[in-house]
Amino acid sequence: MWATLDQVIDRLKQGRNVCVIGHAKPDGDAISSVAGLVAILERYGIAAAGCIADQLPWYYRSLPGTERISTPDKVRGQSFDTTVIVDSSDLSRIGGAEVLLGGAPPDITLDHHRTNEGFGKLDYCDSGSAATAMIVLEISRAMVPLDEELAQLLLLGIATDTGFFKFANADAEVLARAAELVQQGARLQPIASAVLEHRSLSTLKLLGRLFDTIQVREEGKLAYGWVSEGMLRETGCTDQDTEGFVGEIRALHEVEVAVLFVESPPGEVHVSLRSKSYVDVSEVAAALGGGGHARAAGCSLHVERLQEAVDQVVAAVAQAIRESS
Ligand code: 5GP
Ligand code: MN
Repeated sequence: MWATLDQVIDRLKQGRNVCVIGHAKPDGDAISSVAGLVAILERYGIAAAGCIADQLPWYYRSLPGTERISTPDKVRGQSFDTTVIVDSSDLSRIGGAEVLLGGAPPDITLDHHRTNEGFGKLDYCDSGSAATAMIVLEISRAMVPLDEELAQLLLLGIATDTGFFKFANADAEVLARAAELVQQGARLQPIASAVLEHRSLSTLKLLGRLFDTIQVREEGKLAYGWVSEGMLRETGCTDQDTEGFVGEIRALHEVEVAVLFVESPPGEVHVSLRSKSYVDVSEVAAALGGGGHARAAGCSLHVERLQEAVDQVVAAVAQAIRESS
């Protein structure tokens, strides 16, 4: 049921043992929102645990506060009177953490994806928020004083979901809130270094292989490339190493929509869609069973061969470009 943020905050304050869950294959905003909300609840005097189905990419672990997040097997067996799902537009996004709900809907969901249709007892989704961490920051204002550790944790989600303050969602509100966090002692440099400068030599070799696959269609407005299971194996990389690759495709001058296909494990293809200014890729992703935002969306497809996913998605994106231009 859709709720106001005040209703969500009232419900949170009634919790005694809260489990905060983020989406599988976590990004900076999921990590920031889970660890940030757990830190807020702890400071307020409520016991809380953070949980994400997949291991965090290793480079986030250097950031203080992320140790508040564990995997479902670590918290299973604990009893929770309140479950909260953050940064996830539907229940399937939390993957293996669903066991923690025991078949019940989550008590609270907090999100900013426009494709979210509400799946909790109380749902708050503001698609005008650049990051779920912006909403968590709003919650912190109503519950606890902001301190350096909390500010650092929340800056992570705001920085990563705005592409380090360069996407269209990096508005005055974002910059004002980020400035406030920095004033509280948060630092951007360790976040930028962890997220943007962690590539290994094998990851760079994989990026080189991706560049070799790039194809351009629709007079340069559509560019796509893929990372196959074989390419991961041959370079000694995992799908986690492909974070940020789709942005390299979007960097092409005339591109409106960039698409990255990552096959992992065999038979499963994750599709990342990014647009620059006018194509709503969340609609394309939603039609394929995924979701996201107007300028960044994704979906996962089950196929026999990678090429099937490529053909299907490229056709859908090409049509969306033709319809929007
Ligand atoms: P990415 O391409 O980085 O995986 O995801 C881009 C955006 O699309 C993120 O906001 C993410 O939450 C959303 N997204 C990615 N994959 C899926 C998916 O399979 N389902 C849904 N609902 N959203 C997705
Ligand atoms: Mn987000």
